[in-house]
Amino acid sequence: MTRMHPFDYIVPATSENAIARHVALPQSAFLAGGTNLIDDMKLGVDNPTTLIDISRLPLNKIEPLANGGLRIGATVRNSELAYDETVRKKYPALAQAILSGASPQLRNAATTAGNLLQRTRCYYFRDVSQPCNKRQPGAGCAAIQGFNRIHAILGTSDKCIATHPSDMDVALVAFDAVIQTQGPNGARAIAINDFYVSYGQDPARENVLGPGELIVAVDLPPTPWFTRSTYLKVRDRASYEFALASAAVAMDLSGGVIRDVRLALGGVATKPWRAFAAEKVLRGQTPGPDIFAAAADAELKNAVPQRQNAFKIKLCKATIVTALETVSTMS
Ligand code: SF4
Repeated sequence: MTRMHPFDYIVPATSENAIARHVALPQSAFLAGGTNLIDDMKLGVDNPTTLIDISRLPLNKIEPLANGGLRIGATVRNSELAYDETVRKKYPALAQAILSGASPQLRNAATTAGNLLQRTRCYYFRDVSQPCNKRQPGAGCAAIQGFNRIHAILGTSDKCIATHPSDMDVALVAFDAVIQTQGPNGARAIAINDFYVSYGQDPARENVLGPGELIVAVDLPPTPWFTRSTYLKVRDRASYEFALASAAVAMDLSGGVIRDVRLALGGVATKPWRAFAAEKVLRGQTPGPDIFAAAADAELKNAVPQRQNAFKIKLCKATIVTALETVSTMS
């Protein structure tokens, strides 16, 4: 049995103070909702020596941006975001994605930044008796020869095949979100597709955050056609379950032609997956089952199935096609 390691607990007064403490204490971690971090600490997967509680910092607002977009504070709770009127109206796939995940109790505690930083639910990552390159670089990957029905088919390497677990982040990828950070070297804005790192040879590294860098907000652009969007999630049971395949789609449809489109996938890849190849097939086309199927095939042609998850290729294709049909027939 794993025992939780002792840790110190700090409540900083400002973001600057939180960042300075994180830089001074390299084994520390920022804490907000704690719905994933505390679980992983109990399992012995994550063992920070200090928790820096940022939940009381003034990062909990949802505010309009001057350009017509929306700024979501890092500690805005998932439930508040899902039921925000502007989100429901202008970015409906985001509200749907959030409400498709976890449970009401978890959504009441989980935060925007915490969702972005969720760790994989790979069984072997969460079992410290098993070899795992992500938890312990160079140890090997128990999943590649083990039970890998839930694992990834896109973005994998011979070092790691874990899926990214989030629903919300899939919608944020489809909506071209920009992550605002503050760090010891100042502020920066990171396009979400540049935020996540494909596992490649270093599965321990999941994003581009530097030491002490704190997510303070997520910005959504004012793109008017994001109102025509949806999130479709396929899973083993109807609630409180991670995706086997999911798709967030937004479509600019006028005159019977797909002028522009955003498609992102969840449950099938090592990060929230922007489906650039599928989008390219769709732009300028008349919506219909054949072009939707062709788009899915273009995205999935490089999929690498494992022993137990080849079914995900067919499942993901059906998920993409169904989500595209849904947005193309919205009034
Ligand atoms: Fe670890 Fe990744 Fe292998 Fe899972 S798939 S055991 S997270 S290295």
